[in-house]
Amino acid sequence: MSSLDSFLSDERCPQNVSMVKATVALSPSRLPGLDLALNPYTGCGHGCVYCYAPYIMRRDVEGWSRNISAKMNLPLLLDRELIRKKGMIGLGTVTDPYQPVEEGLLLTRRCLEMLVKHHARVSVLTKSSLVARDADLLSRLSDSEVGITITTIDDDLAAMLEPCASPPSKRLDAMRSLHDEGVNVYAFIGPIVPAFADSDLDLLLRSVRDAGASMVMIDRLNLRPGMKARMLARAKADPSLEQILELHIEDEGYYRSMIARVKDICSGLGLECRDAF
Ligand code: SF4
Repeated sequence: MSSLDSFLSDERCPQNVSMVKATVALSPSRLPGLDLALNPYTGCGHGCVYCYAPYIMRRDVEGWSRNISAKMNLPLLLDRELIRKKGMIGLGTVTDPYQPVEEGLLLTRRCLEMLVKHHARVSVLTKSSLVARDADLLSRLSDSEVGITITTIDDDLAAMLEPCASPPSKRLDAMRSLHDEGVNVYAFIGPIVPAFADSDLDLLLRSVRDAGASMVMIDRLNLRPGMKARMLARAKADPSLEQILELHIEDEGYYRSMIARVKDICSGLGLECRDAF
């Protein structure tokens, strides 16, 4: 059984994968610091309960996590477009470029090969430890960076929030291994979810610093219709977590104080901290 077959038979994260053809590889990006956006996939199998990508892409939430499209001709399109399109390329601006199916498809890896060939500048964002597989290519991209999203240091809590993504412990391993290979790595702490204990936050930030993060980017929860109910439903098994969510999920003061706390801890650890977006 290939790794793709074994992934598709994973009952915990059922997904349909379609191979599609794109017409354009690189589109203009309005995100700060990025000129162009590159997304080898649409849909996202990580199943994060706080994901707002389907709202932006006008897709239904269930369909977003179950139906993944892989744009298999992107490497060929990139080879042509990179001759004239220049600037910082965001790899994974609307969905994670290291989908679980990427392990078998190698689509993002083949895009990276083109980016290396054309000496492109790239900013990757992922919450998959699979990114460490591509350290050989990523380390050859100068003036580039890899952001690894970590919302909590607690693997069990992450399994509730992000059931089909790599556990945080594996993401930290990936960050360390990329750093050791000379890749510029940063930690994306976001979204802030009302489930952190202060001690977790301290440990989380120490851990990303020790794993080699050059910087921390922080983002708050972006609540969309139906999201609160989904989060509370997932937290049902843990009454204290459910209570914390219910209490703070719409509390602006809570987010302000958590962001201030992150900045304070970062300053104590000598870590640069920036607001995302
Ligand atoms: S990894 Fe990103 S795009 Fe994928 S489900 Fe999670 S938040 Fe959404």
